[in-house]
Order: sequence, then structure tokens, then C-alpha cells
Amino acid sequence: MAIKKIQVDQNLCIGCGACQSMAPKAFELKDGKSYVKENWQEESEENIKAAKESCPVQAISLEED
Ligand code: SF4
Repeated sequence: MAIKKIQVDQNLCIGCGACQSMAPKAFELKDGKSYVKENWQEESEENIKAAKESCPVQAISLEED
């Protein structure tokens, strides 16, 4: 299983910053919302999955193959 794509639903995101602290190479906060960074693939899958689990509003979804 490899992560192919990460999506953040900015309508759900409350800007808590948990994803950024769990996976700082994959997520960044801008204007109170989280966005996927261009070079997110530099982040470990473990950290990305931990970030997804840490999101209190389930705003992060992963596409895996
Ligand atoms: S953990 Fe979820 S709610 Fe918090 S900043 Fe990241 S996407 Fe937004």
C-alpha cells in the first residue's frame, strides 16, 4: 500500500494544526486552513497516516494503491 494522493477538505478543516505537527513535510497551514504541500512525498507514510488519524474532523483523506 502506497499513498498516491492526499486531500484536505478545507470546508471541514478547523485549522487545529495537528496534521502539520504530525507530518510537517506534507501539510502546511495557510490562513487557518491546512493544505497539502507540493513535496508531500518527502514525508513518511507513517507520519501521513498519523496525521490523518489525528485530524479531529476527518478532513484528510488518502488515496492508496
Ligand atoms: S488536523 Fe484536520 S482540522 Fe487540524 S489543521 Fe489538519 S486538516 Fe485541519
